Amino acid sequence: MKAKYIRGGGIPIHDISTSNTCSSTWRGLLYGAKLISNGIQWRVGNGLKIFFWSDVWLPSLGKLQNFALGTLSEDQIKEKVSDYLINNEWNLQKLASVLPGSVVNRIFCIHIASNSSSEDSVIWSLSKNGNFSVSSAYGSHFKMEDDDLWKWSFIWNLKLPPRVTFFLWILLHGKLLTNRHRAARGIAVDLICDSCRVSEEDMDHVFRKCSVSCKIWEDICNDITKNSSYTMEWNSWLWDNLKSNTLLLGCIPGHLLFAVTLWFIWKWRCEKIFIPKFSLPDCPGMIILKFVKDWLDANLSGDSSIVKKNCFIAWSPPPLGWVKLNTDGSWRPEFGSISAGGVIRNNEKAWLVGFALNKGMGNVLEAELWGIFEGLKLAWRAGFRKVLVESDSQSAVLLLTNPTPTHHPLFNIVEDCKMLVEKNWSCSIQHVFRESNRVADALANLGHSLNLGTTFFDVPPAQISACVNEDLSGSALARLLASV
Ligand SMILES: [Zn+2]
Repeated sequence: MKAKYIRGGGIPIHDISTSNTCSSTWRGLLYGAKLISNGIQWRVGNGLKIFFWSDVWLPSLGKLQNFALGTLSEDQIKEKVSDYLINNEWNLQKLASVLPGSVVNRIFCIHIASNSSSEDSVIWSLSKNGNFSVSSAYGSHFKMEDDDLWKWSFIWNLKLPPRVTFFLWILLHGKLLTNRHRAARGIAVDLICDSCRVSEEDMDHVFRKCSVSCKIWEDICNDITKNSSYTMEWNSWLWDNLKSNTLLLGCIPGHLLFAVTLWFIWKWRCEKIFIPKFSLPDCPGMIILKFVKDWLDANLSGDSSIVKKNCFIAWSPPPLGWVKLNTDGSWRPEFGSISAGGVIRNNEKAWLVGFALNKGMGNVLEAELWGIFEGLKLAWRAGFRKVLVESDSQSAVLLLTNPTPTHHPLFNIVEDCKMLVEKNWSCSIQHVFRESNRVADALANLGHSLNLGTTFFDVPPAQISACVNEDLSGSALARLLASV
């Protein structure tokens, strides 16, 4: 059997797909091989065997290609771990040129065997001792089904204190040991939250619903606590806030303040449990802000390669005779649901028509493209012939303003959008920052709560009137931009 199925010492699982006619033995072998590949991890020896980007060799991070700072060239993809070593030490300069600092820090703690003949070896990452077991392989299979954590990997590119990044990574993996999590792992524990003694303690409770965390968020008193923060789905709340580039209090990136606040909430929660007579500081917000500002002073000022400055960005009306179509897409990670929205306004900032659309399931780029497509159709049908289109999705705008790659998964919707743009009218698409696309963003978010399909609004829906008024008054939001 070995001679028939396993040639050259292994099964090339990535290159082979099962056909309907293949034997059940072969199918079984491939299934098993794929299952096992989920748990295989390299342990670095001299780094000569391990592909730096495509093999899994860092615990819990997966393939490093997901974290690369730029697009990898063909030569880079062939790189081995040993290419990042000099004299048995990590080449930090080279690592820092291709990976975010937090990942470099993680690599740096891996010890390189001083004996350069020490070979790389394969270990099993799903058990504590690195030994293979059938049950852990099957466990990984079922975990993998819903475990698409790659989508959170962007946090490694955020500028955050490293300990906050690691804390977030554990939190996003659902691995923080709340009382409910402890109980689920068979550790006998009181499920009730130690801070408020009111509800069971799960992550949503600790970070958002507990009266203690509410007090902390209120004390910081910023955008994080406004709007739908308490009714949003847990994952969406994390996603929206970790993606936020809005500057709070004039100079603090929204995602930084959010992440550091989560970290402090957890720190204080643990101190409450483990330090007798611990009590929450009177002004928790002040402590968090001081921490953030100190960290910014120590870190961002030293970043001399890029000079950044505060820019204030507001929506602007189109010139006389034109209308402006703002569109946006929205993606909710917990269900993978997508929606989009858009609004058409004239040079007097008057609302002409708006829409929101619930598109079911998809990815974020699809949501953005649906917003543009639906908006273009609406503008054409409504008889406007001079239309400026604005989207805050750089990817969507790039796709629409360049030749479409033939094998692109979204080829059809891209081509249909282009066909609309090229109709007999004046129509152009440009990218704008999120800060000037707030009404479209609010409509896109509203789309999630509507029935599947498109809803049109002749007047602004009440839920988004605050946003609409902000644009009417010309209100601007700060954004940190690289100055040229
Ligand atoms: Zn509580």
